[in-house]
Amino acid sequence: MAIVTLEQAQSEVEKLRKQLDEWADAYYTKDSPEVEDNVYDQAYQRLVELEKQFPQLVTPDSITQRVGGDLNTELTKVTHEIPMLSMGDVFSKAELREFDERMQKLAGQPVVYNVELKIDGLSLSLEYREGKLVRASTRGNGTVGEDVTANVKYIKDVPQTLPQPLTTEVRGECYMGKDAFLKLNRERDEQGLSNFANPRNAAAGSLRQLDPKVTKKRSLSTFIYTWVNPPEDITSQHQAIAAMAKLGFHTNETGRRLATMEEIFAFIDEYTEKRNSLPYGIDGIVLKVDDLALQNQLGATVKVPRWEIAYKFPPEEQETIVRDIVWTV
Ligand code: NAD
Repeated sequence: MAIVTLEQAQSEVEKLRKQLDEWADAYYTKDSPEVEDNVYDQAYQRLVELEKQFPQLVTPDSITQRVGGDLNTELTKVTHEIPMLSMGDVFSKAELREFDERMQKLAGQPVVYNVELKIDGLSLSLEYREGKLVRASTRGNGTVGEDVTANVKYIKDVPQTLPQPLTTEVRGECYMGKDAFLKLNRERDEQGLSNFANPRNAAAGSLRQLDPKVTKKRSLSTFIYTWVNPPEDITSQHQAIAAMAKLGFHTNETGRRLATMEEIFAFIDEYTEKRNSLPYGIDGIVLKVDDLALQNQLGATVKVPRWEIAYKFPPEEQETIVRDIVWTV
């Protein structure tokens, strides 16, 4: 339906925001989504479109202007000195090409990317003091997260001590492997409990527990992909990943340093094919400008870094289109 007037746009924007906030609350706070991701994504894209067409309708509290994720557990709150941001996303190769053109224009030169799998879990920050893990936290709303240090002690692949006395912070994804997810839901069936909708929600629900003994019983894993404050001799994302692996972090080995869109598209095709056979869930591919100095130069908006983008896989089954949902509520 074509929007012709500001009034019509305003009314649709309000409906979309209300609906998206409700869905985001179910997804982030209750770890129990009400709709599939692509339904959420379509509504979100529609809101972005309308806000672009009518910039006067943009408000700071719009979901497009803030990192989604509320904090309502009784876990202690942690302020992130460096915000934990969300990520821009695209749904077609043509849009990915536009992203590359934008990067090249801003950089004034051809750009090399570290191309990684987009792991379907939740962001986790790990802080070390003199080589000892002192704090683990979730992204929360990007500025304030939840303290999950006690819970992370039960994630086997998170080093409690580093081989060097570093005071540093790394970030990555906490996820639940597909086997662990199926096992957990089988156990919940036996106990008459409701199933987790997907491994992402199972991971979030298992990590954000007041009682760490619950986390202990769940099988969680991590892939670490960001070194927040790397040593000076680390100048690129791919070097950072290799160095973090050497420190004992669990990193994902499929990442590749790629320079052309043809290579990137081939990587996307390869993992679109392989995604179902991976032992963990992925919902897309992430392109990151490999050069860390260039990343810093490009910076971030209030919500997303400018130097990275997610290409989201198309949904495996076509869902009800969002307009039906939004306009019939
Ligand atoms: P996002 O999850 O789409 O992307 C950002 C996140 O990707 C980062 O915070 C990080 O945790 C993660 N990530 C995974 N692999 C990574 C890698 N290799 N490098 C860097 N980061 C990596 O963004 P978001 O803001 O957390 O959530 C928005 C998305 O969540 C929506 O697009 C939608 O799909 C989903 N969502 C769904 C519902 C629903 O009701 N189904 C509601 C809200 C949000």
